[in-house]
Amino acid sequence: MDSHSIPHWYSPESPPISIVDAEDSTVYDEDGNGYLDFMAQLYCVNAGHSEQRIVDAMTAQASDIPYVSSALGNDSRDKLASLLAERAPDNLTDVFFSVTGSEANEAAMQIARAYQDAPKILTRWRSYHGSTYGASALTGDPQTRAEVERYSAVTGHTKFLPPLDFGGPFNADTPEELAEQAADHLEWVIKNEGPDSIAALITEPIAGTSGAYTAPPGYFERVREICDEYDILLVSDEVIAGFGRCGDWFGIQTENVQPDMITFAKGVTSAYVPLGGVITSSEIAEFLDTEGMPVGQTFAGHPVACAAGVAAVESYEDGLFENARDLAPVLEDALAGVEDEYDVVGDVHGRGLLWGVEFADPETGEHFFDPRVDEGDNPVGAVRTEAKKRGVIFGSARPDVQLVLSPPLCVTEEEIHEAVSVLRESIEAVF
Ligand code: PMP
Repeated sequence: MDSHSIPHWYSPESPPISIVDAEDSTVYDEDGNGYLDFMAQLYCVNAGHSEQRIVDAMTAQASDIPYVSSALGNDSRDKLASLLAERAPDNLTDVFFSVTGSEANEAAMQIARAYQDAPKILTRWRSYHGSTYGASALTGDPQTRAEVERYSAVTGHTKFLPPLDFGGPFNADTPEELAEQAADHLEWVIKNEGPDSIAALITEPIAGTSGAYTAPPGYFERVREICDEYDILLVSDEVIAGFGRCGDWFGIQTENVQPDMITFAKGVTSAYVPLGGVITSSEIAEFLDTEGMPVGQTFAGHPVACAAGVAAVESYEDGLFENARDLAPVLEDALAGVEDEYDVVGDVHGRGLLWGVEFADPETGEHFFDPRVDEGDNPVGAVRTEAKKRGVIFGSARPDVQLVLSPPLCVTEEEIHEAVSVLRESIEAVF
């Protein structure tokens, strides 16, 4: 590409296309080719690419006053904070804004360590929590681990095993048994680490970039009980799972548990402008009120971003969530057909408008490469490349054993059928 801008997650083998225009769920490259955006860019343009009221709200805020110090008050910031607190689980009452999802998780770690006066944070293998120094240390992506550690070796983070069904480390016959085994394992890790040394457990309620896998029923309720028993804060990383992506305002709301903090970014403004943050329990908010918060960022809770957030909340409630809920079963059914039809599709899982299609060798039932060790021969990337040639952009998981579908919430039924039919053609082209 003739550009001086270095792309993120850049790999010389697949130079990126340049996107210059978009409408609703479709993006266009510089040659005018249209692509159905079944990745909502980076799982973030939840309201689609043409939500004029977000643009208008940003313009109005920029005309009134474009910037107010993050150490001062501002009406757009206050309004968005109360809208989010009203929609979050009941015990969560206050918002500490950041700019990105990584920084939201950095802030959650800082808050948890100060509040608990304990150093360690627990996170899952096969998770993604960001790219900054601390957040990349939270991330349990085995495939890029070694590379990432060259940039950010931070200590004090202990990983535990996720409750993975397909290709996971547990040996359970039922989802209930899997929930129990995975929770028992977590408790074992906590006892061995020393409960008093652990400040918080951070987890995605439904994983995103590690593959769209959900937890078995009852798992999160047990995790909540264990956290309560050992006095560990539970932090739900909703950077992808939030803002209607999995059917609710926040993914953890489907699991019937109340976390102590929620971290968010991406969909809060539908990615029209960067914004992230942490929603805290009233106890943590009171602690911060008494102790003060000695850290912050210039652009955290930027008024233009908060105005975009307020408008995004309005558009979500004005039909977008409803559309997403109506069409989630359509996507689920279409993908169930793909799982039944192709023996290289080992499993399909997800929730709402976040789904992963997991590929595996039909002979052995194993992934085409060992995600814990190396990338090996990877046909999943080839399926995505075939799909892009046919005009659909799908997401990738890290490790890359899955193709992820995450369209904007304004997607139509026809677009879902078109994307799944391109998925079928692409599987047939590769296998
Ligand atoms: N947490 C999760 C669950 C994410 O998926 C991401 C980004 N994909 C992040 C945190 C980091 O967010 P950002 O890229 O905005 O820093």
